[in-house]
Amino acid sequence: MSTASVPRILIVGGGYAGFYTAWKLEKLLRRGEAEVTIVDPLSYMTYQPFLPEVAAGSIEARHAVVAHRRHLHHTNIVTAKVTGINHANKSATVTSLTGESWELEYDHIVVTAGAVSRTFPIPGVADNAIGLKTIEEAVAIRDRLVSNFDQASLLPPGPERDRLLSVTVIGGGFAGIEIFAELRSFASALLKSYPNISFEDTRFALVEATGRIMPEVSLKTSEWVLKNLAKRGAYVHLDTQLTSAVDGVVELSSGERFASDLIIWTAGVMANPTVVRGADLPVDARGRIRARADLRVGSEDEIIEGAWTAGDISAVPDTSGDGVGGYCVPNAQHAVRQAKLLAANLVAVLRDETPREYFHKNIGAVAGLGLGVGVFQSGNLAIKGFLAWVAHRGYHGLAMPSWERKWRVIWGWWNNLWLDRDIVTLTAVQHPRYVFEEFAARPRPTNATGAIAVIEPGKTAAKADATATATTKAPVKA
Ligand SMILES: Cc1cc2nc3c(=O)[nH]c(=O)nc-3n(C[C@H](O)[C@H](O)[C@H](O)COP(=O)(O)OP(=O)(O)OC[C@H]3O[C@@H](n4cnc5c(N)ncnc54)[C@H](O)[C@@H]3O)c2cc1C
Repeated sequence: MSTASVPRILIVGGGYAGFYTAWKLEKLLRRGEAEVTIVDPLSYMTYQPFLPEVAAGSIEARHAVVAHRRHLHHTNIVTAKVTGINHANKSATVTSLTGESWELEYDHIVVTAGAVSRTFPIPGVADNAIGLKTIEEAVAIRDRLVSNFDQASLLPPGPERDRLLSVTVIGGGFAGIEIFAELRSFASALLKSYPNISFEDTRFALVEATGRIMPEVSLKTSEWVLKNLAKRGAYVHLDTQLTSAVDGVVELSSGERFASDLIIWTAGVMANPTVVRGADLPVDARGRIRARADLRVGSEDEIIEGAWTAGDISAVPDTSGDGVGGYCVPNAQHAVRQAKLLAANLVAVLRDETPREYFHKNIGAVAGLGLGVGVFQSGNLAIKGFLAWVAHRGYHGLAMPSWERKWRVIWGWWNNLWLDRDIVTLTAVQHPRYVFEEFAARPRPTNATGAIAVIEPGKTAAKADATATATTKAPVKA
């Protein structure tokens, strides 16, 4: 398919920034002007702001992701990982999900491999906690909460029941507060289906190391959120750190200690280490790929020709003056806008035109805090409660890429309004063959004499083999 005369553009990561870059390139490029390939181990882009609502059963999991092949019609889609970038040779190592590797040559590379959960070496966290960056994690959280209700409903009051009905979130940023509030709302809604579990039986704790939550909203708004959560039976421990989570027992710097079966870690993200460490591209002190304001890799004085970056993996100068340390904060607002400009700038460079600098003034923040509750903050303007929740759904419903996906999400919300959220969990999908395997007929093993062993229910193969030997001998005796 590729011809040497056509510039080859390789996009590493098809999340927010990568997907939008490819989508925009499809619109801007003339036929035959360039060949675009996107590599991502997932075949879809995840709309991460919907993860808390997926976990809470308000959005169907598949509706919160966008299939690459459905919406990128002129892009080569490679479902694999980029494990190395040798920009000096303009070549990337791609590794398939089954472990085979090959080299992919390019003329321009766009590095948009996002971020992963950033944890600290706290005992027990790596083994017992779960992050909230992928759709799979959101589904697992939802399934765990519902199956814990199922198990707890069979137990008498006691420590095991308390453990199952305890949810702990670490990190009071936007993602942490949203998942905490959504799960509280979900758990409260579940109670009517579990008559022997009461509101007082459930325990919701969020642990935040600093003195406030949600730095994106004003202090006053954040305090309103704390009060609202407390009223709903969800308690935030400020100025407190998690010191251990060994065996699912949460230990806090305040001395408190309790067992919790669901521990969700949302205390920060870091630029994708696999891609950053495997690339010969300049990196800043926080491990992000250094970008110029025109989204080329490099610095004010240096351009790394043919290398571009955007989104959470990159340190893009914030020319609006709002950014933390002078750089854009990692959020979707920036990732989408950077991606669109990156595509336009890349096309400009292909056409020997001058790329433009990225400028975006923060438009505010909106969060959903469970059914009917939200907060919105833009400058000094703050809206709290039901109106903000409507704004949250309105904004994100429309921000979901493609009409096809918007329709599925909004239609789902409409259905839930009348039918209530769906509380079905398909946890057995982790072991889809268990019923089939239990009852499947197997070829009968033959014994040393070539006789066929008859395996009866309740007998082991050895016992059955002895029976088969006896059976073959019987006619001889007769
Ligand atoms: C729970 C939650 C709620 C959020 N809410 C908001 C919100 O309300 N507003 C807002 O503005 N932002 C929000 N964000 C942040 C926002 O989602 C991110 O900033 C945004 O997704 C960043 O886009 P990205 O393209 O850089 O990374 P991602 O969207 O994470 O995409 C990275 C892609 O790279 C792929 N990848 C990973 N490794 C490799 C590899 N080795 N090779 C190839 N591909 C690879 C991944 O599979 C993924 O598809 C939220 C995030 C979370 C987790």
